[in-house]
Amino acid sequence: MSDCIFCHIVTRTIPATLVYEDDLVIAFDDINPQAPTHTLVIPRKHVTSIAELEDLDVGLLGRLMLAGNKISKLKGIADSGYRFVINTGANGGQTVSHLHLHVLGGRHMAWPPG
Ligand code: AMP
Ligand code: ZN
Repeated sequence: MSDCIFCHIVTRTIPATLVYEDDLVIAFDDINPQAPTHTLVIPRKHVTSIAELEDLDVGLLGRLMLAGNKISKLKGIADSGYRFVINTGANGGQTVSHLHLHVLGGRHMAWPPG
């Protein structure tokens, strides 16, 4: 998608602080961090939101989550705990229309979220 900012991060046409990458996903630090660790994990292929995924995409979804676990180790928050967030659609608070998993940690997370 030529107008998708996260697709531009995948192709390195806009800069990002990369944290992790493999054949299916890449991860980079959020530009406006909401916690000491705030990393986004995205599929390399353009997927607008989690609502677009189907049964066949279970592997991709699993790999997003497992990449989040790897990032928790890389960032040193695996033992203290962390939160995964996937905002979906307008009421879900999604502002970038390329599926992304937020990995948040390094501080206590309140519940319920805002
Ligand atoms: P969401 O509101 O769930 O769609 O999250 C979008 C996230 O993308 C926000 O936390 C933004 O701070 C983050 N973001 C937007 N543009 C960039 C960028 N160029 N590099 C890194 N993070 C970004
Ligand atoms: Zn995209």
